[in-house]
Amino acid sequence: MDGIVEIFHHTDFNGICKKFASEESCLEYLALKKWEGGYICRNCGHNNYCKGNTPYSRRCTRCKREESAKAHTIFHYCRLPLPEAFRFANIVCHNPKISSYELARYFNLRQMTCWKLKKKIVECLESGLKNF
Ligand SMILES: [Zn+2]
Repeated sequence: MDGIVEIFHHTDFNGICKKFASEESCLEYLALKKWEGGYICRNCGHNNYCKGNTPYSRRCTRCKREESAKAHTIFHYCRLPLPEAFRFANIVCHNPKISSYELARYFNLRQMTCWKLKKKIVECLESGLKNF
């Protein structure tokens, strides 16, 4: 197992709550993992960037395309606040057999929302690749 979910596996629930209490701290982590091998613009392949408009986003200095820290990660289309999504991921990583119904009750979310997010996290866990 590698990549983005590693921390959820190695850290306990309280640790995740403390470390990722704010949206910004989550974005900081996602940016760090996503670009740990270096930045490459998905639009033009350039590798120079400047700061984007949102915290930890990056903007290509050639084509000006901006990419947020959470784009193309398992949290890309997740509408939950990131600290909540990180707690969700932590629970799933420690207990991949948990049902989406239990998660829905715990987080007070729709079952389908939980099913989709859980599926992404479990796939990420199982892939063992650096793919997010
Ligand atoms: Zn570019």
